[in-house]
Amino acid sequence: MAAATAKTYPNAIAGGIDLGGTKIEARLFGAGYQSLEATRFPTPTDTVETFLQALSKAIRWLEETSGRGSRLPIGIGLPGIINPFNGAAMAANIPVTGLDLPAAIARKIGRKIPLINDGQAFALSEAHGGAGLGARSVLGLIMGTGIGAGHVLDGALPYRRNIAGIEAGHLGLPAPLLERHGLPIRPCGCGRKGCFETYLAGPGLRRICQHKLGHALPPEDLGAAVANGDPAATGVLEIWAALAAELLLTLHLTLDPDCIILGGGLSQLPQVTDHLARAFTRVRLGPMALPDLRLAAHGDSSGARGAAILAVQEAAKE
Ligand SMILES: [Zn+2]
Repeated sequence: MAAATAKTYPNAIAGGIDLGGTKIEARLFGAGYQSLEATRFPTPTDTVETFLQALSKAIRWLEETSGRGSRLPIGIGLPGIINPFNGAAMAANIPVTGLDLPAAIARKIGRKIPLINDGQAFALSEAHGGAGLGARSVLGLIMGTGIGAGHVLDGALPYRRNIAGIEAGHLGLPAPLLERHGLPIRPCGCGRKGCFETYLAGPGLRRICQHKLGHALPPEDLGAAVANGDPAATGVLEIWAALAAELLLTLHLTLDPDCIILGGGLSQLPQVTDHLARAFTRVRLGPMALPDLRLAAHGDSSGARGAAILAVQEAAKE
């Protein structure tokens, strides 16, 4: 629960909320989107009403802590997709599926709060004072328990029809590549088979370990084995990097960004950018300049930080 606080931050420029399956994080930002203070509320998963109450508490905490009340721009990042025409939401582990979420929030809070997919929030955060420094076209790729991605051009989100990320995790991995590495075609949570996410996210990497090493190592243990020079573990990391390079190639060929910024737990694997850069170079197309591969600068606060940046950009349009 939020601790009662007497201190306020009149210089706060925005608040960001990161909606997750276990917690709702509210974070207040000052100049340059530096984090001033943050709090967390557990995410109720029983009913829409208790969920909206918790979200409302997080928003009130930001308004009160800033001392700016409803004049504080606030944005919400969520791991999901919203159809802007009927508001229908789909989000992992949050009881909003099928709900007109933007309308429900506006009714509950009494003001319009911009929503952003967490992959887009990550990219927006890294494009503003993060690892995207100096780049016009920034692609963010989160590899953690799932795959998320987002794209920012000249500091802003390019128009897209849906409130969604670059849903790259659900692109299909080419079957010949799975065949080359002796991997089975696996079903994905989205209902299809052979999606990148089922191999590249944390659970997917565990399954590659199970398949190649005979036991399902968590990514951090695999990373430790690679760091200790274990050749079998390094072989698994290289298979993972070869599959990930195919996704990087797809993103490069379609969006052609200046840089791809890596976040999420798997970006902490040892020398991950070197492994990926080597695999990427093997599949490149002709003379096209490849994007720089960089590690995220803002880590876990990216969801809230990107949502806050969007809130300021939206407020400037009003
Ligand atoms: Zn899928």
